[in-house]
Amino acid sequence: MFDELKRELGRLHGRQQFSVALPSDADGYYDRECPSPECLCQFKVHEDDWRDKVRNEEVFCAFCGHAASSDKWFTQEQIEHAKAAAIAQVRSRIGSAMRRDAQRWNSRQSRSGFLRITMSVKDGPRHHLIPIAAAEPMRLRITCPQCSCRYAAVGAAFFCPACGHNAADLMFHQTLAGIRATLDALPGVRAAIPDRDTVETTARLVIENGLQNAVTAFQRYAEALHEKLSAAQAKPRRNAFQNLIEGSNLWKTATGKAYEDYLSPAAMAALARLFQQRHLLAHTQGVVDQDYLTRSGDTAYRVGQRIVVRDTAVRTGLQHIESLASGMARESP
Ligand SMILES: [Zn+2]
Ligand SMILES: [Zn+2]
Repeated sequence: MFDELKRELGRLHGRQQFSVALPSDADGYYDRECPSPECLCQFKVHEDDWRDKVRNEEVFCAFCGHAASSDKWFTQEQIEHAKAAAIAQVRSRIGSAMRRDAQRWNSRQSRSGFLRITMSVKDGPRHHLIPIAAAEPMRLRITCPQCSCRYAAVGAAFFCPACGHNAADLMFHQTLAGIRATLDALPGVRAAIPDRDTVETTARLVIENGLQNAVTAFQRYAEALHEKLSAAQAKPRRNAFQNLIEGSNLWKTATGKAYEDYLSPAAMAALARLFQQRHLLAHTQGVVDQDYLTRSGDTAYRVGQRIVVRDTAVRTGLQHIESLASGMARESP
């Protein structure tokens, strides 16, 4: 009575290939994940551009520029989704084979008989394809100025996935505008949350994230400007431009000008303090150590205290970063 099922199982025996449609989000973007173990950052690429502009041989990570062939960019969620969808296809084929068996069995039962045995097969819920993270639209939408590939990322992305173009200039200005917009939204956030503790925690996170993103955006921009000027020289160490003094020295070697040539001593001191505070946020969760006191010259804290970053300090920092960056950009060929 299980002839159909046996036949179907025979067909399923061995290696099987299933094609599973990759769902895009509501705006037509695919989720992608960098395969480099140091990065694993997620970004999005428009489905049309993934098909038409991205080459199979080489795709670039929007954050770190890592290059790999186009079949290496599935997110963990997409891999899980593909597994579940393949299992659902197997289940549905077995299910319909069993249903055919059941129909045949039922049709052979005599209707006038004293005892009737029927079989029915019930399906489980069908696996629906829901766009991954559709609920969380990523904030920055970028169109590559070089090849017009559309991609998106949270925070800041620098490389075009299709052509690898470093859109540092565009991203630098967009990121700074984004930080200002988030700080501007803070009073509204404060008003909307009734609980005081939550308000303060949220505000602190927004301000500290703003500082960290501002320094990263400057770092990437400075790296890109520096690379254009000194392509022949040895590449500076990773994150060299996160450090104000080290970055200024590199810049001086490349152009003959140091950061002090673009900023007043007061602005330099304020920026040095903010860059050191970013370092604390990234490495000590904001707890002051002796290194910080020595390098920043900040006399407001003792070792062991937690720094407090004000939104006014971040806004002033954004202005200094902009002045510094526009001075540096003028040296660029
Ligand atoms: Zn990456
Ligand atoms: Zn491009």
